[in-house]
Amino acid sequence: MARHTSWRIGGPTRYYAEVYDANQARALAAWACGVGVELIWVGGGTNLLVRDAGFPGIIARYRAQSWQIDDLGDAAILQVEAGASLAGVARRMAGLGWAGMAWAEGVPGTIGGAVFGNVGCYGGDIAGQLQSARLLVGGAEEEWPAERMAYGYRRSALKDGAAPPSGPPPLILAACLRLQRGDPDALAATMARIAVERKAKTPWGRSCGSVFRNPPGQSAGQMIERAGLKGMRVGNAEISQRHANYIVNLGGASSADVLSLIAFVQETVRRQFGVDLELEVRVI
Ligand SMILES: Cc1cc2nc3c(=O)[nH]c(=O)nc-3n(C[C@H](O)[C@H](O)[C@H](O)COP(=O)(O)OP(=O)(O)OC[C@H]3O[C@@H](n4cnc5c(N)ncnc54)[C@H](O)[C@@H]3O)c2cc1C
Repeated sequence: MARHTSWRIGGPTRYYAEVYDANQARALAAWACGVGVELIWVGGGTNLLVRDAGFPGIIARYRAQSWQIDDLGDAAILQVEAGASLAGVARRMAGLGWAGMAWAEGVPGTIGGAVFGNVGCYGGDIAGQLQSARLLVGGAEEEWPAERMAYGYRRSALKDGAAPPSGPPPLILAACLRLQRGDPDALAATMARIAVERKAKTPWGRSCGSVFRNPPGQSAGQMIERAGLKGMRVGNAEISQRHANYIVNLGGASSADVLSLIAFVQETVRRQFGVDLELEVRVI
């Protein structure tokens, strides 16, 4: 899975699949159920850590990425399939003069990953834009209004485990996002500013973005920095010198290296500040 994650880390999966529409996804899920193999849906792999031992089931990427706009005058509803790139969609909408997604400039990953984890930054998040999401649940398509996603900071009903008691987890097929009429030049300027800020803050090298969620009212990165852990290494994994909530693969790092660093950070922060840092990244 190292080839399919932004960290470039991860052992093998028994099966890897890419599906291009809801019918293929339904067929794959039915097959997985039939042969009794566990299935995990992924997007761009930018928030995943696959253990070195790998995964004994199917990891499947949903690739459908078409979109259409319902122009309502001053507002619009964007229907976009979950395999589309979040940042790509944000740029395209800004170019067409639709506002609401500028915050997503430069955020890696797909619409599906963003809807799953309530991605956000620079004052926006997907919860602020989502009207509804189309899901594949147990072989049937369901339209979930945003309220049913029960969004919180980097949380959703799906991330917190709302899944059928047996069978494959729900697949996000598409999202309906609310947009407003905006000025393309002003949107381009905002996104250019965000791109510069992002570039200045984001560490060089392979990562998954922030490893830990910020505890309420606190910054995980600042706590890790105050604990003196910036630059600490295990094997070829390093707590970034630039942003302490990032762990960077310096080249050839293993999952075990990263997991050791994670455990050490959690233990140190608990001891020094009495705070339990929760993972933002999903470990498979
Ligand atoms: C350099 C860098 C910067 C980042 N900056 C930010 C940031 O500013 N803000 C932020 O919030 N995040 C940030 N991230 C984290 C990451 O971009 C987001 O979490 C992103 O939304 C993950 O999307 P993905 O498609 O890669 O999902 P994946 O990593 O493939 O999957 C993440 C989770 O979503 C689930 N999932 C994905 N697609 C689907 C689907 N279609 N149906 C059901 N479940 C699905 C997976 O099962 C998994 O649990 C950053 C990451 C990197 C590498």
